[in-house]
Amino acid sequence: MLFDTHVHLNARQFMEDREETIQRAFDAGVKYMVVVGFDSETIPLAIEIAEQYDTIYAAVGWHPVDAIDMTEDHLKWIEELSAHPKVVAIGEMGLDYHWDKSPKDIQKEVFRKQIQLAKKVQLPIIIHNREATEDIIEILQEEDAQAVGGIMHCYNDSVEYVQACLDMNFYISLGGPVTFKNAPLPKEVAVQVPGDRLLVETDAPFLAPHPNRGKRNEPAYVKLVAEEIADLRGVSLEELSKLTTQNAFSLFKLEL
Ligand SMILES: [Zn+2]
Repeated sequence: MLFDTHVHLNARQFMEDREETIQRAFDAGVKYMVVVGFDSETIPLAIEIAEQYDTIYAAVGWHPVDAIDMTEDHLKWIEELSAHPKVVAIGEMGLDYHWDKSPKDIQKEVFRKQIQLAKKVQLPIIIHNREATEDIIEILQEEDAQAVGGIMHCYNDSVEYVQACLDMNFYISLGGPVTFKNAPLPKEVAVQVPGDRLLVETDAPFLAPHPNRGKRNEPAYVKLVAEEIADLRGVSLEELSKLTTQNAFSLFKLEL
């Protein structure tokens, strides 16, 4: 049984066939998912989907690309929603230096506020990081994010930074890129991360794993991610599935 710890079933790419997509995931053995909300439209939908399925959960947070649009009311709203029984994490949040819609200082402020909120409501956080690893680690340390821990979602940097994340009670989640032919970094990370800190995800509809690269991703494909990591670590798919699902349960404080 697999746990896709990061999926956007709330994205418009799934408007037409969300139920079928979820069924395909269940049929592929992907029993658990966390639907991640990241703005005012995707957050309510994440919760709505989680309410419809026993084994689907939600995360609520504000994406760094849109940090400039986040108001105090949004923050309060996220705090209220964090009390919902199906909400298991705050995020995604973080820093994204690839797009320049939101200036860095605003991104950092919105990131810090969400870490503070997560600590207040005692939920783990989901980190989006694009070209900003060092600043993210610095902010997580300064804000004592260790108190709640969380996930480095779709981790895509070198092994060098992994230890700092582990030291702060973070899990390393790998997605489609670990299956790409020219992706030495995630492959090395897949081997080096301690077994009790490893998670799998799709980030669907984005980042479809090989051989579906470039197409719409979907949660059923988390199996391809898990197969690749199992191969790299020299363990069976069954073992890897069990391990990563247990890790997700322990991070999100869920009971089987
Ligand atoms: Zn995402």
